[in-house]
Amino acid sequence: MRVTVIGTGYVGTVTGACLAFLGHRVTCVDTDHAKIAKLRAGEPTIYEPGLEDLIALAHNRGGIDFQTDLTLPVRESDVIFIAVGTPPLPTGESNLAYLEAAARGIGNSMDASKFRVVVNKSTVPVGTGNLVQTLIREGIAESASPQQAPIQFGVASNPEFLREGSAIHDSLYPDRIVLGAEESRTLDLMRKLYEPLSTQAFEEPDFAARPATMGLVPVVSTTLTSAEMIKYSANAFLTVKIGFANEIANICERVGADVTEVMQGIGLDSRIGAKFLNAGLGWGGSCFGKDVSSLLHTASEYGYHAHLLQASLAVNNNQRQIIIQRLQEKLGILKGRTIALLGLSFKPNTDDLRDAPSLLIADKLIRMGARVKAFDPVAVDVCRTHHPDLHIHYAEDAMSALDNADALVLITEWPEFASLDLAAAAARMAQPILIDGRNLFDPNKVRAAGFVYEGIGRARRHA
Ligand code: NAD
Repeated sequence: MRVTVIGTGYVGTVTGACLAFLGHRVTCVDTDHAKIAKLRAGEPTIYEPGLEDLIALAHNRGGIDFQTDLTLPVRESDVIFIAVGTPPLPTGESNLAYLEAAARGIGNSMDASKFRVVVNKSTVPVGTGNLVQTLIREGIAESASPQQAPIQFGVASNPEFLREGSAIHDSLYPDRIVLGAEESRTLDLMRKLYEPLSTQAFEEPDFAARPATMGLVPVVSTTLTSAEMIKYSANAFLTVKIGFANEIANICERVGADVTEVMQGIGLDSRIGAKFLNAGLGWGGSCFGKDVSSLLHTASEYGYHAHLLQASLAVNNNQRQIIIQRLQEKLGILKGRTIALLGLSFKPNTDDLRDAPSLLIADKLIRMGARVKAFDPVAVDVCRTHHPDLHIHYAEDAMSALDNADALVLITEWPEFASLDLAAAAARMAQPILIDGRNLFDPNKVRAAGFVYEGIGRARRHA
């Protein structure tokens, strides 16, 4: 099929490259000329393992190209994905300005030559499928070249569940494909588009091995509204699950239990499951906070106060503050102290800093008069560029971030930090204090290496 993907961020680039890899002919469109220039040169504009290889393969399979104007690609396409950003407004609701511009642009560009499906891939509030339909119609009506025949199109919701850092793997081997639409013609076309994926009828690429347990991918076909709710509910559930682990961690600390053992104990219950039960300094990233706030906003529009969702945001905010409290407990005065942060990205294997806990923690420490030194394997340049007012001293590597530091805070659980030479690390610091914001380290090993160790929810009374 001919496919256009509008927006070449994390979701759009990966979606476009995967669809081309599966044999479709894809054009990715973005209004950001610099991004398109880089992509044309074969360079991804984001750090995502395997993406460069996937784009290279995509050229040889269905074919992929990158454009700044959507008119021609839309006209030629059977399926048009909207994958633009939907960032939060101060009220918590989603900013749909980019999506609205894209939908109108699609309407302006359509002709009557074929039936097309326009797909909301972006995470959008309930009802946005209807809105997109209206905007496309308005776009068609204001189009400079009125059509003789009626222009036929359907709107689908196809929420994205990929995780940054494992986006290629998640896109090729998803747990499910969710398709929402109001008529069967639209659903049929979408099922056909995804057939190579749902039947797994493709050869696995070297850089993304198929899981041994992988079978056919379940396709959930539903209404627009339910599909939109599935995306928000999935993310809201995950934030509640992590929030639960953090809440239990805070109780564990007070009673002298170890949350890592407690979560292992409950995670073995098949009704609960072991994933997303890691206590720590909380979740971040571009999706969880924004999506929970947007769902809260939708609920309130319909006269419902979503207590559990509100609480999950409050618990998460509190976890970030705990790091500052720990440092105050250990160091007393923070003014003039040097604090080393290991990790800046909101999780490993990405350079994404959106709503990253590191930003709030660094900002707070700097405002309190501390010096902040930081190292991240990939996110330093993004931090320097996007947060020029944040006066962090960036280190060349993990060890040099520790030189003469009064405390080390582990912010992001990058695998390379787990294999740090702890004795050498302690020796470089003015005071060997380690606040482990992700419970990455074995407390006994860290203490044996000479550190004063504090994790999150890890039996402090017996430390
Ligand atoms: P992003 O900010 O990385 O990329 C969005 C891109 O859209 C930018 O390159 C921007 O220039 C482009 N854009 C904006 N308006 C445009 C227009 N009118 N025409 C063409 N291009 C335009 O965003 P992202 O992280 O890829 O997220 C996109 C959507 O997917 C969001 O709704 C997000 O909530 C959702 N989502 C994101 C993730 C994730 O992990 N990042 C996962 C699932 C769902």
